[in-house]
Amino acid sequence: TPVIGVLALQGDVREHLVALAAADAVARPVRRPEELAEVDGLVLPGGESTTISKLAVLFGVMEPLRARVRAGLPVYGTCAGLIMLADKILDPRSGQETIGGIDMIVRRNAFGRQNESFEAAVAVKGVEGDPVEGVFIRAPWVESVGAETEVLAEHDGHIVAVRQGNALATSFHPELTGDHRLHALFVDMVRANRAAESL
Ligand code: GLN
Repeated sequence: TPVIGVLALQGDVREHLVALAAADAVARPVRRPEELAEVDGLVLPGGESTTISKLAVLFGVMEPLRARVRAGLPVYGTCAGLIMLADKILDPRSGQETIGGIDMIVRRNAFGRQNESFEAAVAVKGVEGDPVEGVFIRAPWVESVGAETEVLAEHDGHIVAVRQGNALATSFHPELTGDHRLHALFVDMVRANRAAESL
């Protein structure tokens, strides 16, 4: 059974731990580099990306995160977590850094403040069956992607789910619904990566 961490500096950590357990992974919070070293995959939760960025630097885990993602650790970011995986933010706040890993430019709070929260059905490539229920909370969208980045979903003409290699990201929050198909997709990515590494 794969062991999957949830970066637990700020954000909706508990919801991801529950969703990962439901998708048959062993899930545990990760704050320190020693904890990061022990996981087969990592979820970057929703929350506030500037806060997560600053805490990651403060806890000394930002560089280890970058190193492991660069080395191919499977990662899944939702909302603020998607922002953390972007190689570039269009409108970063001062002091805001990202881990990077996905060749894309993201726009924070892109869907607008007057419309801070909404739900929409989103068809996601690689997720069988009905569209997923996309919960968008001051969500970013992906402004543009590089040649290696695969677009998995759009909403209203804007990119809201992407994958590049072992990195998966969505603008919305499957962890806030009872539908664990995206977590199951990620657990499959982690299993496949473990199998490939043990060859
Ligand atoms: N707007 C937040 C940010 O910029 C993300 C919101 C969320 O994760 N629900 O980090």
